[in-house]
Formats: sequence, C-alpha cells, structure tokens
Amino acid sequence: MRPRALPALALGLVLLVTGCGEAGKSPEKAAAPPSDSAAPAPSPVTKPSPTPTPAKPKLRPLPKKLPAGLHRASGSNGVALTFDDGPDPRFTPQILAQLRAARVQATFCVVGKQAKRYPELVARIVREGHQLCNHSWHHDMNLGRRSAAEIRSDLQRTNEAIHAAAPKAPITWFRQPGGRWTAEEVTIARQMGLRPLHWSVDPQDWDHPPAKTIIKRVKGATRHGSVVLLHDAGGDRAQTMAACRHLIPDIKRRYGIALPR
Ligand SMILES: [Zn+2]
Repeated sequence: MRPRALPALALGLVLLVTGCGEAGKSPEKAAAPPSDSAAPAPSPVTKPSPTPTPAKPKLRPLPKKLPAGLHRASGSNGVALTFDDGPDPRFTPQILAQLRAARVQATFCVVGKQAKRYPELVARIVREGHQLCNHSWHHDMNLGRRSAAEIRSDLQRTNEAIHAAAPKAPITWFRQPGGRWTAEEVTIARQMGLRPLHWSVDPQDWDHPPAKTIIKRVKGATRHGSVVLLHDAGGDRAQTMAACRHLIPDIKRRYGIALPR
C-alpha cells in the first residue's frame, strides 16, 4: 500500500475526534507559567520541565465518549468561529482586526491567566461585540477529572479575571481544554451559568500546519451550523492568521457567521 494514501483518510477522523490541539502538548504543562503564549517571554531562560509535583491528587477517569449536553453546533444556520487560549498580545489584535473588517462576531475562549495578564485585550474583545468563553485558569487539560471543589474554584477564578477586565461582560460558555470533558464538569459549569461549548470542526491549527492546510481542513469539514475551533494564542499562530484571512470572508459568504447559541 502506498503510505501517502493514509493522511487524507486519517484527517476525517481526526477532525471529529481530537480536541483543542492541546492534546499534543504536555498535559502537565499546567504547572508552568503562561507558556501558552508565544509572546516574547520576560525571562530569556528556558526552564526545564518542572520537577514532579508531590503527591498527585487522584483524578477521576476520563470517559471514553464525550458527555451528553455539549454544544457542538452553532444553533443556527451560520457557522460559529471560536478562538482559544488567548488573549495574546501578538495574535488577538490581528484576529480582532480581521473580524472587524468582515463585520462578524466570534467567541473567544480565554485562559484566566492570560486574561489577568492582558486585561485590555479582554476588554477589547467585549467592546467589539464578541462573546466570551471561560477556558480554565491555566489551560488545565485534566480539570474535568479533578474534584468538584477544584473545578468550581478554577472556573470561578477565571470568571473573576475576566470580570476584572470587563466587569459587566457575560461569560456565556465554558470550554474544557483539549475537549477532555467529564460529565461532572459539565454539571458544575452549568450550575455556574456556563454552557459547555465543544466544536465540530478542528483543523488542528495548534500543530502549526501551513495556512493552506488549515484552509483545506476547515473548508472540507465546515457545514451550516458548524462550530470551528481555531487558536489565537498558545504558540506561533501566524499560519492561523493567514488562513483566517481567506476563511473568514469565505465562510461568511457560504454559510454566514453567527455566534453560537
Ligand atoms: Zn485550548
């Protein structure tokens, strides 16, 4: 068999199954400083991975299937665009400018630490009519597996950082990093007024494919009512920015772009 035949086939599956890309990163990076940000770090020193955390708490098992009740469609004919892991001082303003030029709104799944660090960007997201989604305090891939108290306090802390930046902004959604949801977490998020937002199209832009690949993957999988997962932070997002210059007008023309509901 020719090995070249596989990627296209694999892609179809990957698009549906894998999550927020962060799956490709170290799941324990949570303990590190806001390494999601590709912005010039204040410290020039690259630290080795943190020393093993003492006495790891027990984690509940990750379910094999996604729990019920996740929003995986926009709720209308339009396509919902979602941008994760920011805000980021280099890329968030670029995507905001693109959205503004196209006169469309998107949902920003912000990380609490990033919101605390860049409050002016959170305020700008809100001011320009976009929607907010809580994406955990430090992008904890295992948040859903922790105790109810830990989950609640992580979401609360993130909400507070967002509200410190944009006091009256509604935080409509929660999205678990990596899409590693548990039913318990969905329940807690709902109790806090956060609706669980998953996705239906994942071009895996976190893995730095070239813009043309991101475009191809998104266009191949997007339908009316899709929720598209993209990243405006967490690494070098130049290829995502380039892809969006094509995708945003194209999706708007084909399907319309709408906030999820
Ligand atoms: Zn993420």
